[in-house]
Amino acid sequence: MKKSLFIIAVFIVSLFTACAKPKASAPATSSSAAQSAEQPVTPEPVVADPKIQKLNSVLMSMTDRCKDAIPNGDPYEFLADLEKVLQIEKAFPSDDLSLYYLIDKKHTVSAEYEPTHLRKLVANDDYIINKTTLSLREDAADALGEMGRAAKKDGITLDVSSTYRSYETQERTFNYWVSVDGLEEAERESARPGTSQHQLGAAVDFGNIDDSYALTDGCKWLNEHSEEYGWSLSFPQGYEDITGYRWECWHFRYIGIEACKFQKKWFSDIQQFMFEFIDAWKSME
Ligand SMILES: [Zn+2]
Repeated sequence: MKKSLFIIAVFIVSLFTACAKPKASAPATSSSAAQSAEQPVTPEPVVADPKIQKLNSVLMSMTDRCKDAIPNGDPYEFLADLEKVLQIEKAFPSDDLSLYYLIDKKHTVSAEYEPTHLRKLVANDDYIINKTTLSLREDAADALGEMGRAAKKDGITLDVSSTYRSYETQERTFNYWVSVDGLEEAERESARPGTSQHQLGAAVDFGNIDDSYALTDGCKWLNEHSEEYGWSLSFPQGYEDITGYRWECWHFRYIGIEACKFQKKWFSDIQQFMFEFIDAWKSME
């Protein structure tokens, strides 16, 4: 089993405690020197770096599976990378939910929520739209255009099949799948209204929305390059118990380039682990 950052962080805290020197005291007068000879100075208690303490607390609250996914490393490097990701978040539109918003089967948005700045996708030279009813948050729409242009340079044309879904659309879709497959199967394949990344307006389903998409050049290109443009695969293979969804090779969420790097470097490239961590970190602020 991999040694986790958590263990390293605890180790560093105890190392600090052992090595820290008490603060230098004021120059002693002859009388106080005599006094200190009689009364041994009790070393001041060492206060560990509060950020490391917080890191330990947050990591302790995470699942074992998440802790195991975090590679061995320097906690200060981790904190510096986290800080970068959180600084970038400050530049996101303040009148909408963060691109890092944790949404899953346990963390939802209301029936009323819809992104503040939605842009309708229209036919363009960067990628194909498979419907005329598609829309994304503006930042995600811009990033999709950029990714589409980069793919085209490599001879790949991405095709976009599904984007923003309102609460009502999710409700209709979910009820349809329940009627076809029953509740249990519908839960794996579809999302209960208010729990879908698509309601945030920053997720895209590419291609035919089917496992066979994994065999296409488009999907292969996305797997190799999407992170360079800030797009992260949300539901990877083998993590159904973590994400709540079976593998969806076609579903990508726009989270920004820095968050993609952070996810890859510290969370075994699992978006869900990173957002659970960020959510827990913020809830302790
Ligand atoms: Zn999707």
